[in-house]
Amino acid sequence: MPARKKIIAGNWKMNKTATETATLVAELLVELEKFDLADVVICPPYTALHACQEALGSHSNIMLGAQNMHQEPFGAYTGEISAAMLRDLFCRYVILGHSERRQYFGETNAIIQKKALAAFKAHLKPIICVGETLSEREGKKMEQVVTTQIRQSCAGFSVENWEDTVIAYEPVWAIGTGKTASPAQAQEVHALIRATVETISSKAVAEKLRIQYGGSVKPENASELLNQPDIDGALVGGASLDAASFVAIIKNSCQAS
Ligand code: PEP
Repeated sequence: MPARKKIIAGNWKMNKTATETATLVAELLVELEKFDLADVVICPPYTALHACQEALGSHSNIMLGAQNMHQEPFGAYTGEISAAMLRDLFCRYVILGHSERRQYFGETNAIIQKKALAAFKAHLKPIICVGETLSEREGKKMEQVVTTQIRQSCAGFSVENWEDTVIAYEPVWAIGTGKTASPAQAQEVHALIRATVETISSKAVAEKLRIQYGGSVKPENASELLNQPDIDGALVGGASLDAASFVAIIKNSCQAS
């Protein structure tokens, strides 16, 4: 089985002005500037991307990501941002289909698939979020929901597209709630996602795919979660806004539990 380098991403959501960004990035750089045991990505709001890149400088190992983008390359889409605009600001990754986008902005699997194809064209790597709600889990629909999200959001991906893709499993009931999936619960779904990708692509593609867990990841639970065989990283919300906790998550993720 190929070794998969861990990938830890911080989703700042609608937090941090461009001015506040400089302080947080400076604190992260003290610990992470040359860190290379895992890929580290930070995803500030659009308005802070430029300030973030300036603060990171050209020698940092920390990579820049965005939280969303529009599926069209340009045009009359007031308020939207294209993949090329993100690349021009040195973004390497883009989060797509976060549950908040699905819930509050009506994003469907079909839209997410279009966004992913547009991201690939612009040489951006998508972090595609999937995950069930509490009522879906309690109604025994987790498997159907997650496999449908993968099949539809990733429809038509080539082998090269899969190499650029990260999947984030984020059970909606664990996002921002303080409730974390147990390592066994998370591992079960990660294995299901990998098996689904094997079915729609190939074993080789599935074995290389990095699958992050997201949902109330903290320094205390990061090591146990990330030591599960199919958990290859974390997508971190609240705890990525504090340099000490984000750094601790990253470092704990790279240690055996
Ligand atoms: C997220 O929004 O992607 C997330 C995982 O949030 P939190 O870590 O705050 O639960």
